[in-house]
Amino acid sequence: MELEVVLKWMELFNEKVQAEKVKLTELDTPIGDADHGNNMSRGMKAVMEGLETDQPETAADALKVVAKNLLSNVGGSAGPLYGSAILGLAKGVQNEAELAESMNDGLEAIKKRGKSTEGEKTMIDTWSPVVKALKEGTLTSNVIQDAVENTKDMKATKGRASYVGERSIGHIDPGAYSSGLLFEAFIEAGGI
Ligand code: ADP
Ligand code: MG
Ligand code: MG
Repeated sequence: MELEVVLKWMELFNEKVQAEKVKLTELDTPIGDADHGNNMSRGMKAVMEGLETDQPETAADALKVVAKNLLSNVGGSAGPLYGSAILGLAKGVQNEAELAESMNDGLEAIKKRGKSTEGEKTMIDTWSPVVKALKEGTLTSNVIQDAVENTKDMKATKGRASYVGERSIGHIDPGAYSSGLLFEAFIEAGGI
């Protein structure tokens, strides 16, 4: 992955997060504590400032700056989860693995940190189909949108949404939605 792609990716993700801050919080209202928009907005502001200050010179270093700022500025579970994911990706990029393998390292980091897996109505349900499509060379915006939409019918068994049990069914998962924005931004930045 090129440094320029990572920087463009984060710039576009930040724009999307700020533009959809209210939507992210609305999604986190019926099945959470209505803070996902604020959490991601604060985190991505810190990421953009961190990239400006640190001036990383490689893609892996830029991703480490992203991870560091998400870990220390996003309250709640999304911070550590996104932070771990991006750190996993940074390590993948550093080890010169294939793009799909690097992204899979990010996914595995979420699973490890969250003690979670596919089908539990979390951000994993966006990451996993995206990694699969990357492996197969079939990642498009439609794949991302379908993955996000598919979380609607799932029953949450991890995170705050699991507290409402059956009542989580019928709502899109906020973290799956924000991860959708992340991968839309990735495509737009020329990541694939
Ligand atoms: P919090 O739930 O602490 O308020 P956020 O609202 O910012 O944090 O983020 C919630 C999102 O985090 C959920 O929508 C879900 O996608 C994700 N999430 C929560 N717990 C887990 C977990 N154990 N594994 C994977 N993702 C999780
Ligand atoms: Mg929340
Ligand atoms: Mg919270």
